[in-house]
Amino acid sequence: MSVFSHPDFDQHERVVFCHDSETGLRAIIAVHNTHLGPALGGCRMWPYSTEAEAIRDVLRLSRGMTYKSAVAGLPLGGGKSVIIGDPRKDKSDALMRAMGEAVEGLGGRYIAAEDSGTGVADMKAMAARTTHVAGVAEKRNSDGTLRSGDPSPATAYGTFVGLKAAVRCRLGTEDLTGLRVAIQGVGSVGFRLAKHLADAGARLWVTDIHPDQTQRAVRELGAVAVAPDAIFDLDVDVFSPCALGGTINDQSLERLRAVVVAGAANNQLQSPDHAHALAKRDILYAPDYVINAGGIIDIHYERTGYEAGRLMAHLEGIGTTLDEIFRRAGQAGCTTAELADQIAEERFVDSGSAPGARVVNA
Ligand code: NAD
Repeated sequence: MSVFSHPDFDQHERVVFCHDSETGLRAIIAVHNTHLGPALGGCRMWPYSTEAEAIRDVLRLSRGMTYKSAVAGLPLGGGKSVIIGDPRKDKSDALMRAMGEAVEGLGGRYIAAEDSGTGVADMKAMAARTTHVAGVAEKRNSDGTLRSGDPSPATAYGTFVGLKAAVRCRLGTEDLTGLRVAIQGVGSVGFRLAKHLADAGARLWVTDIHPDQTQRAVRELGAVAVAPDAIFDLDVDVFSPCALGGTINDQSLERLRAVVVAGAANNQLQSPDHAHALAKRDILYAPDYVINAGGIIDIHYERTGYEAGRLMAHLEGIGTTLDEIFRRAGQAGCTTAELADQIAEERFVDSGSAPGARVVNA
């Protein structure tokens, strides 16, 4: 399997294949870029049907983390890891400890956290073998209550803030009452985003490949459940991808009726061309790594001194950053994705730049 000539290889600093015969661990860690700091990014567990799929995912996800941290103004680089396996069937503490050992082998160049298919308990299991793991420590909310290290609540809130900015820009309203939103994937982030939207008066359509997740949103939030493939055809204002990547593609684009795409999933566009296709159809796209930066921002504060007020201010800044991206992309005649990339590259490509020196949304 070729990596250096892979279409998604982008000068990654390290790509490490990890195997442990005792636990059956098969994982890949990719460190994309550490110019601004250690590569921090989630550890995803997913039943990839081929190794090629896992390699593509880890290469694209790790690159996205470099761009995400740079635009969020964080002194962090980009990395990601994937474990090949079904999190509902193949996961064990021993497997996660073996993964911890693999992370430890990189000596702090990569720091793992939660992602799709992993949670706080898994990070705690990894922490038995490595100190290079985040999303573990309990945090105190502004109302004094404690919450776990799970970054999903921050990701969901940041996505909610970003979705509001996109609606403001495209539909000219701050009021979400009656806004029609289709959410693809109601897991850790999607469900919490759905709750914020329901509390703000939006009308929700949801789907998930696991019916128990969808039914929870129906029961607790009054959402309407639809089949996974039907989510693209709905007559809604906002399409919110909160499952896995690549859901904006040639097939789905034709079917979308929403005027805003704003969700938490990483790598929503199957290819960069799809940003142009969205713009051509006058669909406003909130670049994925900008709108879903809440989790990495949360983890940054966990590592550097957590304070709920500073976290909230930074999360609110996601809206300001998106306002700027929408405005500047309009002026420059480029896509919102291109404008976001430009901001990120100005920050991390120059290795001499001081980490976190140019903060947009802090
Ligand atoms: P999760 O696994 O808890 O939720 C994802 C949900 O999507 C699951 O319920 C899954 O069953 C569902 N799903 C998968 N494929 C689907 C499909 N084809 N159609 C419908 N539903 C499908 O993961 P999460 O932590 O909520 O993350 C969701 C997305 O957000 C991922 O792309 C992740 O990388 C991204 N993200 C998460 C965080 C975080 O803090 N957890 C931070 C940034 C980005």
